[in-house]
Amino acid sequence: MPELFIGGEWTRSRTARTREIRCPADGSLVAVVDEGCSADTEAAIHAARRAFDLGPWPQTPAAERGDLLLRVAALIERDKESYARDESLDTGKRLVESGYDMDDIANCFRYFGKAAAAESGRVVDTGNPATDSTVVHEPVGVCGLITPWNYPLLQTAWKVAPALAAGNTFVLKPSELTPHTAIRLMRTLQEAGLPPGTANLVLGTGPEAGAPLAGHPDVDLVSFTGGLQTGRGIMAEAAATVKKVALELGGKNPNIVFSDADFETAVDMALTAVFLHSGQVCSAGARLIVQDGLHDRLVDEIVRRARQIRLGGPFDEKAQAGPLISAQHRSKVEAYVKAGLAEGAVLRCGGARPQGDAYASGFYYLPTVLDECNADMTVVQEESFGPVLTVERFSTEEEAVALANRTIYGLAGAVFTGDQARARRVAGALRLGTVWINDYHPYVPQAEWGGYKQSGFGRELGPAGLAEYRETKHIWRNTDPRPQGWFS
Ligand code: NAD
Repeated sequence: MPELFIGGEWTRSRTARTREIRCPADGSLVAVVDEGCSADTEAAIHAARRAFDLGPWPQTPAAERGDLLLRVAALIERDKESYARDESLDTGKRLVESGYDMDDIANCFRYFGKAAAAESGRVVDTGNPATDSTVVHEPVGVCGLITPWNYPLLQTAWKVAPALAAGNTFVLKPSELTPHTAIRLMRTLQEAGLPPGTANLVLGTGPEAGAPLAGHPDVDLVSFTGGLQTGRGIMAEAAATVKKVALELGGKNPNIVFSDADFETAVDMALTAVFLHSGQVCSAGARLIVQDGLHDRLVDEIVRRARQIRLGGPFDEKAQAGPLISAQHRSKVEAYVKAGLAEGAVLRCGGARPQGDAYASGFYYLPTVLDECNADMTVVQEESFGPVLTVERFSTEEEAVALANRTIYGLAGAVFTGDQARARRVAGALRLGTVWINDYHPYVPQAEWGGYKQSGFGRELGPAGLAEYRETKHIWRNTDPRPQGWFS
């Protein structure tokens, strides 16, 4: 059946081309989907523009918009199992992790549903009794939403929920590798009663189906989550029409462990930080920065446990981590490990594909630890986006902070220490959008998410996440109009 959703209709791609979606765990065929092109995106933008200009979604009272988002949350919960299954087949992610993602997605819709309902302007005290001054929030317009493959529906929800809460219409372009849950979301939005044309979906590659969203004059905002290079291109493209731009880009995230940290917790969280979803997490703690005195003991234990991590497909209940998304991505990870070794890193474990029939047709890569790294190495500076942990040493607090900040990225990171005053100092000094203290990876929809430096700008989630999708208008009324006589 057709998989593009434009103006409330399911339609085929104008190219009549299709794409095979294969599960990264074993290469099995999941489905054949339509492959859209720039003409499809053009049609979707037109539909979204019409729906914005003619309504009714932008004029729908905020409380009603909020109710619809709450219905979406409930529908995703109702269909959680099949949603999670689709996500796992596309990504190769363990089913249990996809299930957690679906919980987070429902919570995201619920959070923005409530935020939409609570939305209100404010009255301004001008100090002049003959005026009535108010500030109101309005939607930005047509939003182009472009999402990656690592958390396909979660990253989509972080954009779709606030965009709808604020009253926008949108065109969504998910990663060409993982389209299924985006297709399903359109059905869920339809079922929840979203007016036709409000939500539009195009499939296809970034350069073909995605690029028009950044350049088109009828798109008012582009929100992108993905790699740094792509983000730079989108920002440049958006400049021609001075679009509102939000970028959620990569990270090379430091995980600082002081000698006084709780040892078991630090080991456990260091493993989760980097090996969750095989390192394909923007906030992955891929740089372990460990104090001299603890280095040997901590790294030995991380290596011992990394060797025991069981890899497997999404439905293998004993698996602890899955495959990488594609053969091409695995080659990229392999190249980073090779570069690290050439630059002097010491391989402590991994650094190879797992052996055995079970792994032969999937894109697996062993959890890898590279010790004795330094901040100049390519593998330390650039995002491998795979299960690769680099280890650097420090002696003083100042040195730890300086090392951690020495990348172009600034997305997230952590500090582990028993000294709470030091934890606060270090958290304050790190140039990162999120800092965890004695923890790694948790987030809540109530608090903002986003990067410093070249990890992007703009915020997702939290009140600032909603603000991204709103214009703010000042309305001034003269309640006692009379000539002022300046030029009479
Ligand atoms: P990517 O940049 O290759 O692709 C992301 C999306 O952009 C895809 O939908 C792709 O088709 C599209 N795209 C590609 N070229 C385009 C173009 N010229 N114009 C418009 N769209 C284009 O990224 P990816 O490999 O899918 O995702 C991995 C990256 O995403 C990593 O760098 C990761 O750190 C980042 N990421 C960041 C966050 C965050 O919150 N900061 C979250 C998840 C992923």
